[in-house]
Amino acid sequence: MEIYWETRIIRGFSDLEYRGNFRTMKIKSVRGTHDLLPEATQLWQEIEAAARHNFGLYGYAELRTPIFEETELFARSIGAATDIVQKEMYTFADSKGKTFSLRPEGTASVVRAFIEHGLHHDGGIHRLYYIGPMFRHERPQKGRYRQFHQIGVEVLGSDHPALEAEVIEMLHRFFEHLEVEGLELLVNSVGCTNCRPAYIQLLREQLNTQASDWCSQCRQRAETNPLRVLDCKTPDCQPLIEKLPTIEEHLCEECRRHFSRFRNYLDLQQVPYRVDPRLVRGLDYYVRTTFEMVSDRLGPTQNAVVGGGRYDGLVEILGGPATRGFGFALGIERLVTVMGERPNKSQSVAPDLFLGFLDDASFEECIQLASHLRGEGIHAYLDFQGRSLKAQMRLANRLGSRFTCVVGEEEMTSGRFPLKRMEDGHLVTVTREEISVQVKS
Ligand code: AMP
Repeated sequence: MEIYWETRIIRGFSDLEYRGNFRTMKIKSVRGTHDLLPEATQLWQEIEAAARHNFGLYGYAELRTPIFEETELFARSIGAATDIVQKEMYTFADSKGKTFSLRPEGTASVVRAFIEHGLHHDGGIHRLYYIGPMFRHERPQKGRYRQFHQIGVEVLGSDHPALEAEVIEMLHRFFEHLEVEGLELLVNSVGCTNCRPAYIQLLREQLNTQASDWCSQCRQRAETNPLRVLDCKTPDCQPLIEKLPTIEEHLCEECRRHFSRFRNYLDLQQVPYRVDPRLVRGLDYYVRTTFEMVSDRLGPTQNAVVGGGRYDGLVEILGGPATRGFGFALGIERLVTVMGERPNKSQSVAPDLFLGFLDDASFEECIQLASHLRGEGIHAYLDFQGRSLKAQMRLANRLGSRFTCVVGEEEMTSGRFPLKRMEDGHLVTVTREEISVQVKS
């Protein structure tokens, strides 16, 4: 869509003085961001409503946090060595030199709010969800944008593997509700602070022995974040990745037991999955269970619709008491792509009743009538573009209005209004009060 903006030539923001030089400048949306036009927002509303409904059935409540936070929140929680913190955050300073970032993901903010408002004081399990935009300065491509939207879930206060399986079962119910098919659930364990360091060290050693064979990004990751090498999509690295040891063989007894119980609960709930020993998540705070839901409709690289896992240490990292956490984030744009073209099931925008008028006095009557009918829950419509009555009726047809009612002097004096059902031309004359009853019937 093109938007034209009339600008005057100005010198800096404060100089709005007209200098006699008009210019027409075309302003477009920022690269990697998108407008959602009304035909798209209907599906988005449906997706959001399905999330609210289904998550509500499992006791989840919505949390809304600001879209920007102190940069340190993300640096500390996501990890200073991650791509997100190193390269992808939109960071800015305010006039006092404080540094803020647009949120690149939701978990850090949820945990920050959880601690700030002392939600942990009751010692129970907290089930939270959020819906909103996230911002990452990535190279825009299909399925990867600079502003994108996530629906996320966080459950704080339990390390029970059955709760992890329940969260995943809830996701299944959500997808079923939206009739989404073809998603595959991949699960893995990334170990814990006891067993993972030794595995990472082993990876690092192996990567360093054949350093020249790996892509430059993997060589760098060998130093900063060796787990992420498993995630590399470069074709030349794939046979090398196959030869690397898997974390499965290096899990400690507790992690192994946790992972096995988690899988048993998935079986119990009849949720199909595949263990993918290469599945790691990009963020430092994940421990033990991780999972993704992928679709081959998204192509080979950006194929994950959902990503999530356990983050037991995060609340402590951010200054709160030891609290277990598990959650996921789902990308709405990718979900919409997976859903493809859908017949529009949402409520139609066609008016219930089109009010036609002949002159200024009946226009005023129609304004009042429309207001009264909207109060009764009726979608009433009238023309604001000075059309003739004939043109107003053409518009009523074009909009697909179910009823029309033409108001003139006679109707205003008698208080009786001709109501025409457009489908079959059936005409009844009714009082002001009877209009809504007729339209609703
Ligand atoms: P993450 O927070 O990276 O674990 O991502 C969780 C989900 O958010 C992914 O599976 C995607 O569906 C979505 N997502 C992440 N980054 C982007 C992006 N740049 N553009 C669109 N969707 C994204």
